[in-house]
Amino acid sequence: MNFRDKIAIIEGFPKEGISFKDITPLIGDGEAFKTLIDEMAAKLRGQGVDYIAGPEARGFIFGVPLAYALGVGFIPIRKKGKLPQETVTITYDLEYGQDTLEVHKNAFPKGARVALVDDLLATGGTISACAKLIELAGGEVVSVDFIIELTELHGRDKLDGYKVESLITYD
Ligand code: IMP
Repeated sequence: MNFRDKIAIIEGFPKEGISFKDITPLIGDGEAFKTLIDEMAAKLRGQGVDYIAGPEARGFIFGVPLAYALGVGFIPIRKKGKLPQETVTITYDLEYGQDTLEVHKNAFPKGARVALVDDLLATGGTISACAKLIELAGGEVVSVDFIIELTELHGRDKLDGYKVESLITYD
């Protein structure tokens, strides 16, 4: 299936100069969404993945059905202050300022094999912080999977040493 046709390109959102890749037509199409999750699950099956983890909010949209399809648990990575139990925390640099992500300290046993999922790889700042967070909490990041990769931002350079996959690329 051609998933690219299901991505809407919105110029100037959220600010001028940005060409926003909108996944809502893709997830709004039941057949496309199911096929996409099934294809991602097929790639990850047999890799000994114990958990799927993803950052809010769009990482949840893809990570939760993927975890369900694989029959493994889902670990939410959230913005600061949202998780109710003791957390491991990481602060990372954004284009302007900083952001903080957290995961529950007891989310998975030490040595668990975790696949990270998010909708889109841009600069790689978000997902490399997620990978470090999983490692700080004692997990092993065995795969990093995206629906979309913006190749000219070279986010992969921040993910050196990880297995990185994306379904749709834009230059
Ligand atoms: P990065 O940290 O620069 O790689 O940015 C990736 C994060 O920003 C992901 O969590 C995406 O959800 C979000 N993001 C950046 N650009 C877009 C876009 O064009 N469409 C959807 N999400 C985006």
